[in-house]
Amino acid sequence: MADAERFDAVVVGAGPAGTAAAITMAKAGLQVALLERGAKAGSKNVMGGILYNHYLEEIVGEDWKQAPLERPIIEERRWLMTAEAALGLDYKNLRNREHPHSYSVLRARFDAWFAEQAEKAGAFVVPETVVDRLIVKDGRVVGVSTGRGDDLYADVTVVCEGIGLGMGLLERTQINGRPLRRKLRADEVAMAVKEIMQLDSKLIEERFNCEPGEGCTIECFGDSTMGMSGFMFIYTNKDSLSVGGGALLSEFNKTLRTPNDLMEHFKQHPAVKPLLRGAQTVEYLAHLIPEGGHRGIPRVHGPGYLVCGDAAMLSNPVHREGSNLAMESGRIAGETVVHAKEAGDFSERRLAEYRGRLDHSWIMADMKKYDKAVPLLEHNPQMLTKYPAVADRALDEFFRVDGTSKWDKQKRILRMLRKEGMLKMGWDTFKAVWAMK
Ligand SMILES: Cc1cc2nc3c(=O)[nH]c(=O)nc-3n(C[C@H](O)[C@H](O)[C@H](O)COP(=O)(O)OP(=O)(O)OC[C@H]3O[C@@H](n4cnc5c(N)ncnc54)[C@H](O)[C@@H]3O)c2cc1C
Repeated sequence: MADAERFDAVVVGAGPAGTAAAITMAKAGLQVALLERGAKAGSKNVMGGILYNHYLEEIVGEDWKQAPLERPIIEERRWLMTAEAALGLDYKNLRNREHPHSYSVLRARFDAWFAEQAEKAGAFVVPETVVDRLIVKDGRVVGVSTGRGDDLYADVTVVCEGIGLGMGLLERTQINGRPLRRKLRADEVAMAVKEIMQLDSKLIEERFNCEPGEGCTIECFGDSTMGMSGFMFIYTNKDSLSVGGGALLSEFNKTLRTPNDLMEHFKQHPAVKPLLRGAQTVEYLAHLIPEGGHRGIPRVHGPGYLVCGDAAMLSNPVHREGSNLAMESGRIAGETVVHAKEAGDFSERRLAEYRGRLDHSWIMADMKKYDKAVPLLEHNPQMLTKYPAVADRALDEFFRVDGTSKWDKQKRILRMLRKEGMLKMGWDTFKAVWAMK
C-alpha cells in the first residue's frame, strides 16, 4: 500500500456511489483507496436494474459507451394488476433509439467494469477487504480498520457502504456518544428479491415485442405485491430477464408473508407466466432498499467523513431510481474532497460544501417531492387492492360485448363506482397527486 497507508481519501464500498467518488478524486490526482468487501466489485450487489447513462457519462465521459450495458430501454410498461387482469400504460418512445437514457444492466458485470475505470484513473482498488470499523480520534473520523488487520488513514473517509442496516458502519460508529446514523425503522426499508432468468435473446425480443438488441421494462403494482406497498418488475437483458420486486419490511412483518411468497405469486400471474415460460433461474438475490424519504436522510457530512448513495438513504423508489442518486452524490462528494485538498482544509465546515451542493441539486428536490409517497401507499392499502379491482370491473363492463347497450353499460359503471365510494376514491386520488406534487 501507498505511503505508510495514508491516503487523501479512503472510500468504503465499490458500488455506484463509492466508485463514482473514487474516480472523481483519482482523476484530480488525489491518492485514493477504494475498499470493497466482495471478491470483486459487484459480486455482492443487487439492482433491478435500470441504469441511467447521463450520470455515468458525467463521470467517465465518452467511455460510458464501453460499459457492459445489456439493452437500451425503448419501452416502459406499467401494469396495475388484479388476480385476473392487468391494466396497462405502455409507452414506446422511438426517440430512445437515437438517444437512449437508460439501459438494463447486470451489476456483477457493470460494477466490475466501473471499478476498473477507478483503477485506470489511479485509484488503489482493494477487493476482498471488509472495513470492520471507522477509526475515530478526538471526535473525528481519521481512517478505517480492515478485516485484513490493516489500518488506513485518510484526510476524508467517504462512506458508500450501501444501506448497511443494523450491521453497517454508520450505525455502529459514534462521535461524542451519538451514532452517525440512527437505527432505521421497518417502514423506512424495503426488502427486495430478484431472479436472473436465462432466456434466448430471440425469444425475449418476440415475447416482449422488441427489435433486436432493444429492451423494455414492465413494472407491476397491486395484486403483484399481494397488495403490499411496493412493486414487481421484469427487465429485459441481452439473454436473460431480471424478475423481482419487493415491499416495505413493515408490510412483510404485518402480513407474515416472505419475499419468496411475493416472487412465486408474481411468477404465477396469468399475464406474467407466459413471458417467463422456459426461462431458467440462474441466480437468486435479495437486498434492502432505503425508502425513508427526505426525512430519513442522516447527516451526510461530519468531521472527517462524507456519506453517499444508499448509505445516505438517497433513493427514489417511485421512479425506481437509486443508482443515479448514488453516482451523483458520489461525484459531488469526490469534488468536495478535491476542493478541500486544493484549499488544504479538511475541516467539517469545508466538507459542508457537500451537503450544500446536495441541497441545491435535483437529488434533494426529488427526495423532498416524494417524501410522502411511500407512507401514503402504506397507510392507504385500498389504493393497491380495492381501486385496481374497481377499475378492472369497470373496464370489464366497458369492453365486454354482451347485448347490453352502451348507455346501460355506462349507467352500470356509474352505479358501481357510486357503491364503491366514488367520493373517497376521488379524495384518495387527490391525496396521491398532492403527495407527489
Ligand atoms: C432489487 C433492487 C432493484 C433496484 N433497481 C434499481 C433500478 O432499476 N435502477 C436504479 O437506479 N436503482 C435500483 N435499485 C437501487 C440501487 O441498486 C441502489 O440505489 C444503488 O446500488 C446504491 O448504490 P451504493 O453505491 O450507494 O450502494 P451499493 O450498491 O449497495 O454498494 C455498496 C458497496 O459497499 C460494499 N460494502 C458494504 N459494506 C462494506 C464494508 N464494511 N467494507 C467494504 N465494502 C463494503 C458492498 O459490497 C457494495 O459493493 C435497486 C435496488 C434493489 C435492491
